[in-house]
Amino acid sequence: MPTIHRFPEDPAQAFVNAYLVETSSGVVAVDALLTVSDARAMRRGLESLGKPLHAVLLTHSHPDHYGGLTELVAADDVPIVAPRGVIDTIARDDVEKERILRPMFGDEWAAERTFPNTPIRDGETLAFDDAAFTVIDLGPSESPHDSPWILGDDGRTVFLGDQVYDHKHCYLADGFHREWLANIDALQERFPSDAVFHIGHGGPVGVEAFDWQRRYIETFVAAVEEADWTRPEEAHAAVLERMTRFLPTEDLRFLMELSIEPVAAGLGLIAAVP
Ligand SMILES: [Zn+2]
Repeated sequence: MPTIHRFPEDPAQAFVNAYLVETSSGVVAVDALLTVSDARAMRRGLESLGKPLHAVLLTHSHPDHYGGLTELVAADDVPIVAPRGVIDTIARDDVEKERILRPMFGDEWAAERTFPNTPIRDGETLAFDDAAFTVIDLGPSESPHDSPWILGDDGRTVFLGDQVYDHKHCYLADGFHREWLANIDALQERFPSDAVFHIGHGGPVGVEAFDWQRRYIETFVAAVEEADWTRPEEAHAAVLERMTRFLPTEDLRFLMELSIEPVAAGLGLIAAVP
C-alpha cells in the first residue's frame, strides 16, 4: 500500500492540506496548497523522498489547492490532472483570484500560476505502481467544479477535497449549495462505513463528517434566508452570530463571512454582489 504524507507537516499550522502519495518508484501529489512558502516546503518534502514526481491530481478548482503548483512542480514535466471542467474553471477564474488574493497574501500568492494540463473523464483510473487513482467528476459542488479521487479499489481511502470540512467554517460563495448537498448525499451512500477521507481542511475524517457538513450548509442557508435583508449590516451580523454559535471557532471564519452576501444574492434576497 502506498504511503500518504500530509502537508503542511504540522496540522496546527495548516490553513489547507495537500498530500504526497509515495509508491515504490515515485510520488503522486494530490493538490498543491496556496502559498509559495508552504508549496516550497512540500517540494522539499518531495525531494527528501528521493523519488520522482509522477503526476499531480487536483480535487477541485479553488486557488488554495492549485496556487502552489508552480513551486511544487518546479522544473518537472509532469501531468497535472483534473476533469475538463476543473481545468476550464481555473483558467477562467484565475484573473479574479489574482485580484482577491494578491492584496491578502502579497508575494505568498505565486507571481505566475501553473495550471492543470491533462484532462480526465469521470470514473477513469490512473495507475502508478501499486497506487490506482479513480476520479469522481462531481461538477459544481463546494467550488464551481470538484473532482475527488479514490485511491485503490475498496473505496476506503479517498481524497475528498473540500466536500467536507473538519469542523471549520466553510466557503459557500460560489453559490452551489444545492448541488453540494446532493453530492454529499451521493458520496455518503457510495463509501463503506470505515472509509477514511483525506480532506482539504483538517481531517482525516470518517463518514460521519457528511452529516456534520450537511447540517453546516443547511444552518448557513437558513441563517441567510431568515435574516432581515432590509438592513444588510444587521443581516450580516445575524448570520455571523448564528454560525459562530453553531461552530464556536475562528477557524476559516473569514471564508464563511465572504459567503454571506453572495449566498443572499443567489437566493434573491439582495441584488447581485459585484
Ligand atoms: Zn480549500
